[in-house]
Amino acid sequence: MKGMDDDIHATASEGTAASLIDDFGRVATDLRISVTDRCNFRCRYCMPPEGLPWMPREALLTFEEIERLTGILVDLGVRSIKVTGGEPLVRRDVHHLVRKLRDVDHKLDISMTTNGFLLAKEAASLAGAGLDRVTVSCDSLLKHRFADMTLRDALDEVMHGLRVASDEGLTPIKINTVVIRNKNEDEVVQFAELARSTGYDIRFIEYMPLDAQDEWSADGVVPGAEIIERIARAYPLVADTDDEPEPVTPFRFADGAPGRVGVIPSVTQPFCASCNRLRLTADGQLRACLFSLEETDLRGPLRAGANDADLAALAQTCVAAKWSGHRIGEDDFVKPARSMSMIGG
Ligand code: SAM
Ligand code: SF4
Repeated sequence: MKGMDDDIHATASEGTAASLIDDFGRVATDLRISVTDRCNFRCRYCMPPEGLPWMPREALLTFEEIERLTGILVDLGVRSIKVTGGEPLVRRDVHHLVRKLRDVDHKLDISMTTNGFLLAKEAASLAGAGLDRVTVSCDSLLKHRFADMTLRDALDEVMHGLRVASDEGLTPIKINTVVIRNKNEDEVVQFAELARSTGYDIRFIEYMPLDAQDEWSADGVVPGAEIIERIARAYPLVADTDDEPEPVTPFRFADGAPGRVGVIPSVTQPFCASCNRLRLTADGQLRACLFSLEETDLRGPLRAGANDADLAALAQTCVAAKWSGHRIGEDDFVKPARSMSMIGG
């Protein structure tokens, strides 16, 4: 029998591409799902050495709850999903969730952002479950510096994880590299060389005020433009406009070498005006912006028996209220109460 939930699904899937639209006309199509706030690394720009007060297990959405919310959001126009955390691979059997997400819609682009430590072990089951590709975070190619930045001596494991992921077809592989002044800015050309030798897509990320320790300062930010200039001096670059639209255009190497480089200049050149992202935290809060000061609780209503229509309406209200952009660098900037690992990067 056709119920109200079916009506919502039908309505949203009948081409209402603008179902998750905000007051500035932006449409949310990219959902980042955090599956845990826990992590086996302690990157200095993210989490303190002693960790954080972890969410109690019962606060976390179950895989079934995530699947249901994802189905509702997909019917409202979400087309790509990134599974993240905390470290997503420390959540047991996360490949079961990937399978459920794949079953929501076979056309979804499903990727995962991971620190790569457990990737060699998990890559085959993730690929088998329907994961399309991975983004692996790596901030240094020097063993001692990697250990200093993550507080884990784990560069070899991460590099091995990348090779296994590549063999399993979790490609194109992207690397996220947070660049911090006087820490690792001198390695950007080496990362470009890694792209050239492997075909990886390297994304340099500007350091953002989302660390739990409150140590961020503008002095630590290396502008994306500076990173690209530095690489282009060693290896001339050409903008790659062939791909699907991204927040910022990536670059190919002018000499035809494989791989690409790009920057996520969230601080110096925010892409808020074209932002299509939406975030679901591990404890079921929907956030229209990484820097939002408000969250919309979906877990409470979900567990209280809300139907799909109610949950869809909550999501639409959350997105509608998305602000025009973050205020980093402005006098009135207020850091969100939760840091990156608790939100889901
Ligand atoms: N643990 C996984 C990882 O590290 O890839 C996924 C979660 S992590 C929060 C997602 C991304 O956020 C990583 O690429 C990480 O480098 C980035 N990140 C964390 N804190 C950041 C900060 N303060 N500024 C910029 N990027 C940050
Ligand atoms: Fe963990 Fe990722 Fe944060 Fe590093 S950036 S501490 S790997 S959640």
